[in-house]
Amino acid sequence: MSEMVLLGDEAVALGAVHAGLTAAYAYPGTPSTEITEYLIRYRRTHGTPIAQWCANEKTAYEEALGVSFAGRRALVSMKHVGLNVAADPFMNSALITINGGLVVAVADDPGMHSSQNEQDSRLFADFARVICLEPSSHQQAYDMTREAFDLSERFQIPIMIRLVTRLAHSRGNVTAGRPRAENPLAKSATPASWILLPANARRQWRALLDRQPEMRRYTASCPHNTVTGADSPSAFGVITTGLARNYYIENLEDLAVAPPHLHVGAYPFPADAIRAFVGRLRRVLVLEEGYPYLERALRGIVPPDVRIEGRESGHVPPDGELNPDIVRASLGLEARRGLTIEGLVLPPRPPQLCAGCPHGDSFHSVTAALAGFPDAVVTSDIGCYTLGALPPYNAIQSCVCMGASVGMAKGAAEAGLHPVVAVIGDSTFLHSGVTPLFDAITEDTPMTLLILDNKTVGMTGGQPTIRPSSQLEGLVRGLGIPADHLHVLEAHPRHDAHNTEVLRRELDHRGLSVIIAVRECLETIKRGKQAS
Ligand code: SF4
Repeated sequence: MSEMVLLGDEAVALGAVHAGLTAAYAYPGTPSTEITEYLIRYRRTHGTPIAQWCANEKTAYEEALGVSFAGRRALVSMKHVGLNVAADPFMNSALITINGGLVVAVADDPGMHSSQNEQDSRLFADFARVICLEPSSHQQAYDMTREAFDLSERFQIPIMIRLVTRLAHSRGNVTAGRPRAENPLAKSATPASWILLPANARRQWRALLDRQPEMRRYTASCPHNTVTGADSPSAFGVITTGLARNYYIENLEDLAVAPPHLHVGAYPFPADAIRAFVGRLRRVLVLEEGYPYLERALRGIVPPDVRIEGRESGHVPPDGELNPDIVRASLGLEARRGLTIEGLVLPPRPPQLCAGCPHGDSFHSVTAALAGFPDAVVTSDIGCYTLGALPPYNAIQSCVCMGASVGMAKGAAEAGLHPVVAVIGDSTFLHSGVTPLFDAITEDTPMTLLILDNKTVGMTGGQPTIRPSSQLEGLVRGLGIPADHLHVLEAHPRHDAHNTEVLRRELDHRGLSVIIAVRECLETIKRGKQAS
């Protein structure tokens, strides 16, 4: 047993290692990145487990599936919107007979600190009909991850660990247990269950449904779903999930009577336990980070005369992150008095590109090239360069999901807009920009794709791109872009006039062109110098 202070992400990583992890795969995405970063560091010092960045979340998930097929334990981690990318293998892997334990750690971002939405991954676990564990502390993040591998092998399904930003990125004490050895290599004994032809898939789906009662029995009796204060005289009760428990406990001493409290940390939610808990209560407050998932479910399983309060009823804000003050207000407690510092006015600090960032130089050239085109469209993507939406650049008009810049540019051009420029980073291009480019190549769509090659995954802290920058031009040429409409430029102020002129020329070309604007991220250069 050893005690240490870890990030929530690191607690998941160490829990996986101590569960006998063989391999971990991921695509960087805030707030899940630190899981794989920890494992990569761990491998450097211990020689194991395999820990790799992948092209995207789907490829990461499929590689983890291969490890499971071989009988060994695998972890795949991603941010919540990454699960959309991996949704195909995730949903289908619920039907196959998982061999080595497979755990998918998904970090949600309520409050959208660094994301396009605040979707709640518990619904995805429910959708796939698999077990989801939701830690409320760093210790639980470690313990639940360890347990998740055992559950995966017991129920032969993938198990989800659902984190949220505030846990993933805070530090807390973790007492680690004795590490378990890796599984031996043992190919799946039921290979047909991995072949989801309709006849097999129908059988497997039925088998998954047949296992649901056993899963519910597990969550009904597991220590993650607990009741305290059952003998309280209060007719008001509180149900918490995940981190909301901590915010509730922080306010508990100010309540005149401690209400009965049910905490749910494992799903499928224990419907019978909830019914028993609600029993004689007249009013129940549901505190959950994310969507009103449990609150909605409650409406179907408790008597209609019990008042259910939560995000959907308007007793808790419907969006954003919870915190102790929000929970305090929803409990009907007076706000705590804060400290007011007279005369202190903090200047606003909007996010912005680093001073001298190569993306800024590219945006300067784009804006100059598009001058005089009032109908010009610049679709963008997800990375540091999304900040090109803000002053002083005001250079982009869309950012929807990974890779969407390319497909959207094609659609906008085919709808009749001109000129159309798609802006995408090198890593995002390799993640999911290549496939829509196939479509644009096939139609020779009149658009210009500008790949901002900063030689790294800048926004998540400088992880390596899946293929080196030097191969990008060859890759694009190999896809079929003609040499006279494929340019590699240096994104630097001294080349601004030339870069603007090349862009301008390609905007006049009524077909597809690709421009790669290269210059390394300043932060990566700085880190490289510090390391050497
Ligand atoms: S981290 Fe790199 S890519 Fe991102 S804004 Fe800073 S210099 Fe630009």
